Amino acid sequence: MTRITCLVPFCRCTRKPTFDSDEEWICDRHYSAIPASLRREYDQAWHQAVKADQRAADGLEVPDSIYVRVTEAFRACKAAAIEAAGGI
Ligand SMILES: [Zn+2]
Repeated sequence: MTRITCLVPFCRCTRKPTFDSDEEWICDRHYSAIPASLRREYDQAWHQAVKADQRAADGLEVPDSIYVRVTEAFRACKAAAIEAAGGI
């Protein structure tokens, strides 16, 4: 199985994939460089998406907005991590 690398350019951190190898991941060092407000938003959105997955597994309807929110939050974290890495 191929390991996934941190999405910040030139970062050599890798880890084993949880689901599949096209997963995107930010290593701990770069994750800690993201402003707390963005991390909080992503964390909340992620938990909401996990709950939504459980509801979907139970056959309940789940609004797409939940997944849109987590995708947007991740995109913001990714941009912040890359930007912060430029200054490290
Ligand atoms: Zn990294």
